[in-house]
Amino acid sequence: MKLDDIKNVTIIGAGTMGNGIAQVFAATGFNVNLVDIKDEFVQRGMATIEKSLGRLIKKEKITEADKDAILGRIKSGTDLGVAKDSQLVIEAVIEDLDIKLQIFAKLDEVCGADTVFGSNTSSLPITKLAASTSRPEKFIGMHFMNPVPMMKLVELIRGIATSDETSTLITDLAKKLGKVPVEVNDYPGFIANRVLLPMINEATFAYMEGVGTIEAIDEIMKLGMGHPMGPFTLADFIGLDVCLAILEVLHEGLGDPKYRPCPLLKKMVQAGYLGRKTGKGFYDYNK
Ligand code: NAD
Repeated sequence: MKLDDIKNVTIIGAGTMGNGIAQVFAATGFNVNLVDIKDEFVQRGMATIEKSLGRLIKKEKITEADKDAILGRIKSGTDLGVAKDSQLVIEAVIEDLDIKLQIFAKLDEVCGADTVFGSNTSSLPITKLAASTSRPEKFIGMHFMNPVPMMKLVELIRGIATSDETSTLITDLAKKLGKVPVEVNDYPGFIANRVLLPMINEATFAYMEGVGTIEAIDEIMKLGMGHPMGPFTLADFIGLDVCLAILEVLHEGLGDPKYRPCPLLKKMVQAGYLGRKTGKGFYDYNK
């Protein structure tokens, strides 16, 4: 398949990542299907896209007419069958291997043999997801960053069987979307999370051991290393449950005790202190 052959794209999952991915594809001119399990989730995803486009109008990056055109290119619903006419399907549902495997099994039946499959998983093995389909050579990890319309990076993850043709096609596609694709191979945590999560974990150990306060550690990493936000601010943004889950993938997948999740991180997740989404994580957002 050539880049120009890709006209219709289906995104499965209309949550944080799915709706952002749908927005970016529609803004680039693709016809997009946005699919979720319930109408209310689809509506919520569409409302997020509308809000995001509204912000771009305020910043004078797009016009009202652009917004209408972008929204006009997105069809939303709950039937995964719409993927049959898509040249590319990107899965962005919750980080659960069984659910993702079920979805790819259905997509494999519905879609033509040429359709390329991508997964936005943060940490699950691309090779395993790909092997569950009849087209492992046409399967690739497309790890967009949050918030998708703002963040330039797309980490492209090659499974063991991903073909050069698929990799080149999706690299060119990511560039067409205005993103910067960076290719990596399929090992636990890929690169982004393999490097980021041990830093967040180490910051948590340092705080637990009383080496510094949350504010001090964030300040040091911001001012000293030029990071736009400190590790605790970032962890609260990602979600502490998500951070813990990725560390567990690294720990189990690589078998090295250096990846063991900090006991304080575990305790905070047990307490329901998950970060911004629950109003409390390392920082208190209810104040
Ligand atoms: P989310 O919880 O915001 O959204 C997931 C959506 O998937 C929900 O709307 C849910 O209803 C839907 N869903 C669940 N089962 C489904 C099914 N069978 N069919 C269709 N839709 C279904 O999650 P998210 O943060 O958007 O994460 C999605 C994926 O992206 C995960 O694999 C995650 O690891 C990855 N990811 C997340 C981030 C992030 O910062 N949030 C960054 C990069 C990658």
